[in-house]
Amino acid sequence: MEYRIFGCKTNKYFTDKWMAAPGFASKPGIFVASCVVTENAKRKWKRFVKKAVLELPEGGKVYISGCGSISEGKVSDRFYDEYPDLSPFREKIELLGEDPDDVPGFPQKKSGNTPSDRLRSLGAALSKSNLFTRKYSVIQTGCDNRCTFCLTVAARWSHKWRPKDEIVAEIAEFAQNGGVETVLTGTNVGAWGAEDSNRFDDGRLPDLVEALWLETDIRRVRISSLGPEFLSNRMLDIFRQPRAHAYVHLSIQSGADAVLKKMRRKYSASQLRETLSALRAIRRTDGVKISVGADLIVGFPGETDSDFEDTLSIVRDYSIVQVHAFPFSPHEGLHAVPASKLPDQVPEKTKAERMSRLLSLADDIREKFLKEHDGLELELLPEGSPSKEAFSGWSENHIALSEKNFVPHAGQEWRKWRPVRGVYRYVPGASKIYWQIQSDT
Ligand code: SF4
Repeated sequence: MEYRIFGCKTNKYFTDKWMAAPGFASKPGIFVASCVVTENAKRKWKRFVKKAVLELPEGGKVYISGCGSISEGKVSDRFYDEYPDLSPFREKIELLGEDPDDVPGFPQKKSGNTPSDRLRSLGAALSKSNLFTRKYSVIQTGCDNRCTFCLTVAARWSHKWRPKDEIVAEIAEFAQNGGVETVLTGTNVGAWGAEDSNRFDDGRLPDLVEALWLETDIRRVRISSLGPEFLSNRMLDIFRQPRAHAYVHLSIQSGADAVLKKMRRKYSASQLRETLSALRAIRRTDGVKISVGADLIVGFPGETDSDFEDTLSIVRDYSIVQVHAFPFSPHEGLHAVPASKLPDQVPEKTKAERMSRLLSLADDIREKFLKEHDGLELELLPEGSPSKEAFSGWSENHIALSEKNFVPHAGQEWRKWRPVRGVYRYVPGASKIYWQIQSDT
């Protein structure tokens, strides 16, 4: 079965699982992992579905999973109320839950009461199949926080996490089969190990990473995204280590106190600056310079020009090189987020102006970061089927490398996942800048 992924790595992971589920991938049709992070994201997969229903093979269906088809962790019973323009096609659409456990005939989910029990059955079917160059491993999903702009939480519902032994076994098998890099991902990853994601001091992600280093041969562990509140001293120490991917992506959202308060985030602007200073002060044992990325929202209700300047100064002062920027989305109808009811909604024109100022600032900072690496030795993790003439992949600190800007040392073997050392040559614009909303692997 063909598949199309919109949105985040959690969607990649569950797509992997659906495609591995016994008897599913052989059905006629197409699988769509939907995303609701912005109105634009919704428009994209709906447009794709409207085209796909017209091109289905005999007896085929469009199977929709992801945040668009689920609500409170279950298949949404309001789907066609939320997406009335898809109603004419309902004969050709089948809605699916987050994972195959929700479909009769598939391995049943254990009904435990702790966050980890509720996710226990996830791993086994996954370890064998691996659709992507690196191993995305969902270690946690859902969230107990209630940020006022967040729609994901309404879909994925309460926080739950997988037990350490299962994750370690999954990644150990991947490494034994030659896998080099794993990306730990989820909805609120830093909350792994905590009973409640609000209690961020209870998060035990450093324990899990250290267990992976101790009990598996995985070369690189990447953490997809972290709330700044989870950057404890132990977490900072993890990023000092050579087996930690030297890229930290933080869901910062804003640099202004007033906005962070209305978003119901877990940190103030001064706490954020303290955390970023500590992160920027890290000197890794392998000498690699850490790169930092951030999710940022512009145009949140009540955001003033000076609030926006606070966000820009965070990006400037802490050299945020990779910006994943969103214009605030109130979402409509049944999807309306709590912040949609706040006064002082920011006009779309102002949001657009702020988006372009923010992205062009991030551009400049990224080029400066890349220039600083000119002539430095880096390690490439080749993707696809590399050769010394044509290759692409990421460095250990998340610089996109290819034959255009990387000179490999002589005499190295070229094959997928086999790290290659060489010298970086700064070439303006040769490196990716922004995260693509669409699937990129
Ligand atoms: S912490 Fe993240 S997932 Fe949880 S409610 Fe806030 S934005 Fe949503």
